[in-house]
Amino acid sequence: MKLYSTNNHELRTDFQTAVFNSMPLDKGLYMPDYIPELDQEFIDQIDKFSFSQIAYKVASVLMKDAIPLEDLQAIIDDAINFEAPLVELSEDTYVLELFHGPSLAFKDFGARFMSRVMGYFLKESEKMLDVLVATSGDTGGAVALGFLNVPNTRVTILYPKGKVSEIQELQLCTNGGNIHAIEVDGTFDDCQALVKQAFADEELNQRLRLTSANSINIARLIPQTFYYFNAYAQLKRRGKTDVVFAVPSGNFGNIGAGLLAYKMGLPVKQFIAATNANDTVPRFFSTGIYEARPSVQTYANAMDVGAPSNWVRIMNLFSSNEAELKTVVSAAAYTDDQTLKAMKDIYQQYDYIACPHTAIAWLALREYQSANPGDYAGIFLSTAHACKFPDVFPEEMKGKIEIPDQVAALSKKEKLATRMDASFESFKKYLTSY
Ligand SMILES: *Cc1c(COP(=O)(O)O)cnc(C)c1O
Repeated sequence: MKLYSTNNHELRTDFQTAVFNSMPLDKGLYMPDYIPELDQEFIDQIDKFSFSQIAYKVASVLMKDAIPLEDLQAIIDDAINFEAPLVELSEDTYVLELFHGPSLAFKDFGARFMSRVMGYFLKESEKMLDVLVATSGDTGGAVALGFLNVPNTRVTILYPKGKVSEIQELQLCTNGGNIHAIEVDGTFDDCQALVKQAFADEELNQRLRLTSANSINIARLIPQTFYYFNAYAQLKRRGKTDVVFAVPSGNFGNIGAGLLAYKMGLPVKQFIAATNANDTVPRFFSTGIYEARPSVQTYANAMDVGAPSNWVRIMNLFSSNEAELKTVVSAAAYTDDQTLKAMKDIYQQYDYIACPHTAIAWLALREYQSANPGDYAGIFLSTAHACKFPDVFPEEMKGKIEIPDQVAALSKKEKLATRMDASFESFKKYLTSY
């Protein structure tokens, strides 16, 4: 498997380099230089295969010789050790639950696969890998739990004091071992600036082998294709094959993976990108003008992204052919009021509790279904467990949210974060005095 940079289509990098660099020096994103199609026979028979077998098939076709097949299978089985069930809510409406991993969000797929791929390549190298992450919530937990106990790695997570939810904070701070959390007296932007400065610091780069685990790493995108194929397999077992996916979108990595799956031959009628008030992409669909904006805060805060970093990948997948893109993808944006109402409506209609991100995808699906009546299954992706965002729910629903065992256990654990001011001097001192 070779990868090019979206800023330089002549560049060819191998998979291992792309994983450790995360981003090419020219600040583009890595993309596979060739998107292979799965054979039709596999797609026709997909309902006969398990999630693990499907993931292995997709990965082995896409990643070819990047990792020996036996090792690839072991990495997949270790990383994706939880289910992604398709739950039927009504005859034409299904929810794909992607929150059954350790951090209760879909980011577990990407973070766990990436951590194991990095750990795998590290075996041959001597130096400890230092993973630095700034988080506003969900990424930190997935990365922390993804790298926990992965040999030869050390993870430092910076999060803004008082600005992540209680469960998110506990997921970051109670791990110990190779996971270090820093509670920064500042904002998420401060945390991100500290990480960026560390990567630019010559002395730190000489002393430590630094890498970033951020969402643009190609090793986070690839495993997200698996659950689209697996959702299709589950649907096929129920005798249906016409499908529309509605995807809650922020950085557009999730829907980007869906579109990669589509390009690999997954038969999907339509993808709907659903956003909150951060509507850069829906505006692009209605005006034809792509104009990033500063992000605004919403209830669905993991989607508060004004300049979606994976958008360029999607444009590349479609060779910047807007007309083709628009035949496969549509987009819609929703306000906080609409989100809250959707959470209540889903509960009333289906007796189902959806997190705010998930509710936005449901709204987009419902709108699409009323505009396009027909005999197809609508699947909306549920990206996080509702218990991660209790404060968004109205009182009467809050008490109905089921608390998974791992969350109940978290509150008994000790918080192990280091407090720090937002100066680079303090951060550098911390990193060099491990
Ligand atoms: C990260 C996240 C999203 C957005 O996913 P993208 O791949 O960035 O579009 C949606 N919902 C939840 C719960 C998330 O954590």
